[in-house]
Parts: sequence; C-alpha cells; structure tokens
Amino acid sequence: MIDITKIRKDFPILNREVNGKPLVYFDNAATSQTPQQVIDVIVDYYSSYNANIHRGVHALSQEATDKYEQARITIQKHFNIAKSHEVIFTSGTTHSINMVANGFGAFLSAGDEIIVSALEHHSNIVPWQMLCERTGAVLKVIPMNLEGELVIDTYKELLSNKTKLVFCNHVSNALGTVNPVEIIIKEAHKVGAAVLIDGAQAAPHIKADMQALDVDFYTVSAHKVCGPTGAGMLYGKEEWLKKLPPYQGGGEMIAEVTFEKTTYANLPHKFEAGTPNICGGIAFAAALDYMNAIGFKDIATYEEELLEYATEKLLTIDGLKIYGTSTNKTAVISFNIEGLHPYDIGSILDKLGIAVRTGHHCAQPIMDFYKIPGTVRASFSFYNTKEEIDVMVAGVERARNMLM
Ligand SMILES: *Cc1c(COP(=O)(O)O)cnc(C)c1O
Repeated sequence: MIDITKIRKDFPILNREVNGKPLVYFDNAATSQTPQQVIDVIVDYYSSYNANIHRGVHALSQEATDKYEQARITIQKHFNIAKSHEVIFTSGTTHSINMVANGFGAFLSAGDEIIVSALEHHSNIVPWQMLCERTGAVLKVIPMNLEGELVIDTYKELLSNKTKLVFCNHVSNALGTVNPVEIIIKEAHKVGAAVLIDGAQAAPHIKADMQALDVDFYTVSAHKVCGPTGAGMLYGKEEWLKKLPPYQGGGEMIAEVTFEKTTYANLPHKFEAGTPNICGGIAFAAALDYMNAIGFKDIATYEEELLEYATEKLLTIDGLKIYGTSTNKTAVISFNIEGLHPYDIGSILDKLGIAVRTGHHCAQPIMDFYKIPGTVRASFSFYNTKEEIDVMVAGVERARNMLM
C-alpha cells in the first residue's frame, strides 16, 4: 500500500503554488518530479566528490568512478540485465535511439526493411527516416486502431526476411497504451530481425526484465523515473553492442590511438566518449532505488486506481472524449472537449495551478489518425492524489463553461 502522505513529503516541489493556487502536477509523462532523496545525492556529488572518472589516480576520482560504476550495477539489476557492460550510459532515450540508428546503417542495404509502430514519439521516427535515406532501406508502419492499440495481425504480415529491425515503444506517451512487446519481439526474432524497444514511458510504471523480454535494445530516460534530465541508458545485448559501430569519437572510447588507426575500447566505454554526466548517472540509480523502495507493484496498483477514478469523473463532463481506450494502459488520459481547442483548456487549467500537457505530444501521426490538432493530456504518478483529480475535473468543467 502506498503511504501517500509520507511520499508527498519527499517531493519539495509539490508544496509550491502556481498562480496563487497549490500546484497540481499532471505532466508526469513529459517529466517526473524529483524526491529529496535524489536531490540529496546530486548535492552530495557536487559537495563532496566531484571529479572526472576512469582517469585520475587521486582519491576523488576513484570515489566518483566507484559510485558511477556502482550506479551502472544498480541499473543492471533493476532491469535484470545479464552483464553490467550491456548498460550504456547516455543522455536519455533520444540519445540512445540515435546511437543505434546511427550504427545500424552498417548492417543495412537498399531494399531492407525497418518496421516502426504508428504510436511512436517523434524521437523514434526521425532517426529511422534518416537511416532509411542514408541506406536505401524502406520504412514500414504497424497501424493502430481507434482504441489506440497496434494491429498485431498486420504487423505479422509486414514481417519478412527483408525485415532487419523493428522499433516500438513499450508504452505510448500520447495515449498510455501498453504495447504487447513480448509478441512483437518474438515475432521479429522468427524472421531474424533485431528489436529496439523505447522504454521511456514504460520505466516509471513497469519494471521491465531484459532477459525475459529477450529484447536486443531498450532505452530509458532518467528524468521520467524521478531522476535528473540529461541522463539515461541504452541497454544492448552484448553480441549487438560488439558489432555496432561507435557513435561518437573522443576520449574514453578508445583503446589505442595513432594517426594510422584507432582501436576502440571494450564495452561499455566504446559507446561512452568524452566526460559523461557522472552526477546524472549516479542520481539515475538513486532514483531507481527510491522507486524500488516504494515498490513497482504498489505503484502500479495505486496509479491504476487514479486512472479509473479520473476516467470515470472526466467522462461525466458533457462533450468530453478520451483518446486511447485500450484496456492495457498506464495512467495517462488524453482528451478533448467537442468544439474546444486543447490549448484553451490547458491555459485555463494553468491559471488554476494545474499542469497538463496540450498539443500533439511529439506524436503527430497519432493526432493525424484521429484527425485532431492535439489533445489535453493528464498523466499521473504515484505521488498524485484523488483530491488533485477532483481539482482538475472541476477546472475542466469551469473551462468548458467559460469557453462554450
Ligand atoms: C519522453 C519520451 C521520449 C524522449 O525522451 P527524451 O528523454 O526526451 O530523450 C521518447 N519516447 C517516449 C515514449 C517518451 O515518452
């Protein structure tokens, strides 16, 4: 059971006011808030052992290196990853995806096919389009239905021995749909294709098991799991990471450099050129520790309760329509009110201290599918409450009355 009073005390930002009203933060799918425990880790890093890693023989450098490598192991354990060098520290999901998209060109020829899902975030569409332009590979799309679910029968038909790579998010940031990644991965492997799952939106809600999923690549952003921005991970199976060419050249990623030839460092350093976000990596692990102490099972149960409560309440509002009605979704509600622009609703909610997202949520193709300019998106976290949902529902009603 979630002790909500205790949890809310961990998040200093939840005490602030916005426009003279208590903050109601429902933009968790864009970024999560940070508990004091993680803020303390960040302050401690800069207050007591800030130094560059893997280089110095001096004490601070050793300490920072130890903490950073310990963080890698925390992340490894959390995602049940077989080997710690299969965890590559990155600046986040976008960076992780680009790393794979850039290197994967080495395995593609003209006419090969890449499959992406219709539910993708822009950061999961553009790099593949760029890769296709560069290699002559062809992009195919798994379509979605009105509930906001992928049409898996069509996906199976798209797969062939031409398919080299499949990309899909684990959870859609725009609609909250949890995609059947187990099936997607299994089917892709039958034709010998590799699979990258974008776990940015799943990580705050689902503890994904890399070995059980048997996925080839998986990406996470720390800032969506109560960690800092500018940190994240790329998980890659060892066999793939060994084959994949490095993304950036620089310090830390080389074994030996002469002007004739450079040999690359071992994993994970081959993909970690330059000075990384040391503090960010350490705080990322601290954030996972924080969430694990609460427990992902309890988090899921509580968020499910919030989702059901909010869905029921919102649907009592005249003309309100929810997009994304899969039975398997996380605590995200994308909605519109007939005749009103989502931006206008969002602006009125902001005046009431309620933070929601409005627009296309970096997923324009989904909005085109529904033939709408965007939605209002409320996304909940384990530190939100039913009382806050009541405040939002009252705010949406007020917006409707003002704008109609
Ligand atoms: C947030 C998000 C991204 C982008 O993550 P960054 O941290 O901005 O790199 C990609 N995919 C999904 C599903 C997301 O929710």
